[in-house]
Amino acid sequence: TDVPLSPLTFLRRAARVWPGQVAVIDGDRRFTWADYAERCRRLAGALAALSVEPGDVVAVLAPNVPLILEAHFGVPLAGAVLNPLNTRLDGAGLAFILAHSEAKVLLVDASLATLADEALAGLDHPPAVLVAGDGPLPAGLSGAADYEAALAAALPAPWRLPDSEWDPIAINYTSGTTGNPKGVVLHHRGAHLAALANMAVLGLRSDSRYLWTLPAFHCNGWSGIWAAAAAGTTQVCLPRVDPVAILNRIDEAAITHLCAAPVVLTMILNVRDGVPERGPGSRPVIIGTGGAAPTSAVLAAAAARGFDVIHMYGMTESYGPTTVCAPQAAWADLAPAELATVRARQGVPLVAVEDVTVLDPEGRPVPADGRTLGEIAFRGNTVMLGYLKNPAATSETLADGWLRTGDLGVLHPDGYVEVKDRAKDIIISGGENISSLEVEEVLSRHAAVLEAAVVAEPHPFWGESPAAFVTLRAEGPAPSGADLIAWVRDHLAHFKAPRRVVFRDLPKTATGKIQKAALREEARRIAAAPSST
Ligand code: ATP
Ligand code: MG
Repeated sequence: TDVPLSPLTFLRRAARVWPGQVAVIDGDRRFTWADYAERCRRLAGALAALSVEPGDVVAVLAPNVPLILEAHFGVPLAGAVLNPLNTRLDGAGLAFILAHSEAKVLLVDASLATLADEALAGLDHPPAVLVAGDGPLPAGLSGAADYEAALAAALPAPWRLPDSEWDPIAINYTSGTTGNPKGVVLHHRGAHLAALANMAVLGLRSDSRYLWTLPAFHCNGWSGIWAAAAAGTTQVCLPRVDPVAILNRIDEAAITHLCAAPVVLTMILNVRDGVPERGPGSRPVIIGTGGAAPTSAVLAAAAARGFDVIHMYGMTESYGPTTVCAPQAAWADLAPAELATVRARQGVPLVAVEDVTVLDPEGRPVPADGRTLGEIAFRGNTVMLGYLKNPAATSETLADGWLRTGDLGVLHPDGYVEVKDRAKDIIISGGENISSLEVEEVLSRHAAVLEAAVVAEPHPFWGESPAAFVTLRAEGPAPSGADLIAWVRDHLAHFKAPRRVVFRDLPKTATGKIQKAALREEARRIAAAPSST
């Protein structure tokens, strides 16, 4: 009677409850829950035929196509550990991860065969390769087996659950925003509970239709695969992130839900032409967003197009979302500045999270006064096992019963946690903390600003001062740096205003996060240049 918690139970149940209902749509291809379960079982059989044993690592390099949805069940069903790869890394970045995770098999979508070839060239012990989809293969992959042929030849594996719910199910690498990506080891139990929590937060049901806009390899996305199987939700694949295609698919495929990082949400909201009109009265579509802070300007623009945005904060180490801030009717009429304070940066723990708090340097919770800054920490069922082959980082992050996030925040009297900044990004000027997110939020409310990033630059007297990197909108009059500084001074305490504004495109990580470390370096160079004021 003691059944380990595992997302594998969701698929077996879905295949029984909704056998004829469509589970996955990929262009003209449609798989029912019975088809999908059968394909996952055959994948597990094919992996066994490649001598994959329990505990072995199987990597997948694919855009949002059925292959990656199947790998999330087929790999754990073989008792193996899934290593989803970031499709925007280069060959060397992928080789680093494949060598680190010691992947024994690599599943590749044909559209990424050249990239896979570059990665494999950098490995002493390359994994066996299965390629899904059509297309010419580079010479290095000429010996690779065909995925569909391997599925056809395989015996469907029997349903089998892990020996223990604490067994690893996946190794997911972090975004690498603050350094090299870290391999986060996640267990079946956490994956099961994270999926149920996400299903509840998004309100996924068997008549929902989920559009795969978030990269399914990333922690923000992947519990969605398991959540969809728990709910019986139809998943619509989208191999490329194209805002026009997203807006058209929402209409054509009657999409009810999607998730998108704030950068993608910004892209979607900036498209006006050649897409179906949307407004507050349109058919409701729920958009989950997170991974970085959405600005109130984005949230307001989303509401104006009839999207219900659910804002989540979380990290790879927590199987994705940790806190959630769902839309509330009462917030609809708020001005952007108020919206930013009540909604944009705050959240309450997801149901699988036992407690979220903010700790002072001694490890005690800060007072819930909405002001005192500390490190956000949480505990509960969705905490990683640790970082692969990195005991030092693991014991630094998992300490005294908490997962320390490295993010700074405050606790509000109503129990809401407000994310202020990454500890590495906060600017300390004359002993005062300046949240880069707060200054960015104000800059983004200026009509001419498309995106802004604020970082510390060295200051001879104050220690650090804020420098802003800004991308302006293509249309409309362009403000000067002095105009934007005056704008911030009008809305925030003067010491928080940037002393310098640089207009440029912002460098992003493969998951669409602004690379502030690179901008800090640039600010340091500019400040050190002899002509600098
Ligand atoms: P690395 O750990 O390799 O430096 P990363 O922290 O960006 O990269 P992820 O696990 O993808 O890797 O991202 C988690 C981090 O993203 C959080 O710790 C937090 O700093 C930031 N983040 C996530 N969601 C939000 C949000 N809603 N608002 C503000 N910041 C967020
Ligand atoms: Mg991190």
